[in-house]
Amino acid sequence: MTDDMLHVTDDMLATAERIVRAGPICDECLGRAFAKLGHGLANSERGLKLQTALSARGVNRKAGACWVCGGAFEEVDGLAERASAMSDGIEFDTYLFGVRPTPRLIQGEKLFLERFPTDAYEPLKHAFNREMGKAFEAHVGHGTVDFERPHLSYVIDLASDTITLKVRSVYVYGRYRKLLRGIPQTRWPCRVCKGKGCSACNFTGKQYPESVEELVAAPFLEAAGSKEAYLHGAGREDIDARMLGSGRPFVLEVVAPHVRSLDLVALREQVNTTAAGKVEVNDLRFVSRDSVALVKETHAEKTYRALVSLASPVEEDKLLAAVSSLIGQINQRTPHRVSHRRADLVRVRRLIDAQAKIVSEREVELILRGEGGLYIKELISGDEGRTMPSLSGVLGLPALVTELDVIDVSASAFPDSV
Ligand SMILES: [Zn+2]
Ligand SMILES: [Zn+2]
Repeated sequence: MTDDMLHVTDDMLATAERIVRAGPICDECLGRAFAKLGHGLANSERGLKLQTALSARGVNRKAGACWVCGGAFEEVDGLAERASAMSDGIEFDTYLFGVRPTPRLIQGEKLFLERFPTDAYEPLKHAFNREMGKAFEAHVGHGTVDFERPHLSYVIDLASDTITLKVRSVYVYGRYRKLLRGIPQTRWPCRVCKGKGCSACNFTGKQYPESVEELVAAPFLEAAGSKEAYLHGAGREDIDARMLGSGRPFVLEVVAPHVRSLDLVALREQVNTTAAGKVEVNDLRFVSRDSVALVKETHAEKTYRALVSLASPVEEDKLLAAVSSLIGQINQRTPHRVSHRRADLVRVRRLIDAQAKIVSEREVELILRGEGGLYIKELISGDEGRTMPSLSGVLGLPALVTELDVIDVSASAFPDSV
């Protein structure tokens, strides 16, 4: 450090003298009062330099704990050592510290600024967090501060002398295909015990033994050394519907991972081997947390293949005309089958395209492309007049979906759309 990094003026020295005479003060707090004057010096170096100049004039520091910070800056190294121990075994590149000062510190800072108003002052929180970071890096031997998306977020509560650490989740985007009917997208708590575990669910707490979420997450949890993961899907298919084609976009959130540099090629292989015949994942890539909302909120268009059973045979011309007439606006009152968990209201959705072919005497196959949120089973059955128009209504006979597959989910907003 050279002298010209802080040119000590008489004004500065006069202020410093008043501060030092007001009570015991640490180098850090004395330096903070002039933080924005000169650069290249740490606050404590700046404070020491001022104090040295004052001592030469016979103005000496008073003994005792600093009246501004109460000695908080002396705790930095010990706190950094504790924070460092908390990061043991956790892979990270970036970190951020946030301090919660005690009410007394906040009051002390206010008093100080009232007595010694200056534009050159650096707030205690700001300086403390930076000093924590410097000491933390010295202890762990690596790391960079990141104010936006740190891997490790520490909060230091000075009043209770506690440090809490939050490890940022890892987010992985991909598409899943569900090859088998009967698997829900996410874990469903047992209807009887609500997840606590009972004889009805064989003490698993689950209504279904497996879910897409669990099948996809298992290898990730193991590789990341994590205990929790959530699958956020771009909508969801019915439990009894398959998800084919290029699959449904999802973001897997791996909570509090110990390992972040996951090998997505190997993990894809592992999911596809362990869940073979049930679930398959593709197009995996790391994304940020924003992608969760993007995937969940995007209204993607969906294409379905529906096998429909008709109460009586229909001629091909009549079938094709009926199916074509459905293209356009569909009014759907909340279906009977979901009315226990969804608000009862009429939704307007569009059927974008529809094709049909006769499979057997009373069976037809439909390919239907619709806006996100269009209920296909009800578009066919009419749901006792709740959905209008419907295939059943147009044909004037009962029609029922017997098999449903989603064969495409697409929206330009998805990270892998081209
Ligand atoms: Zn101090
Ligand atoms: Zn149960």
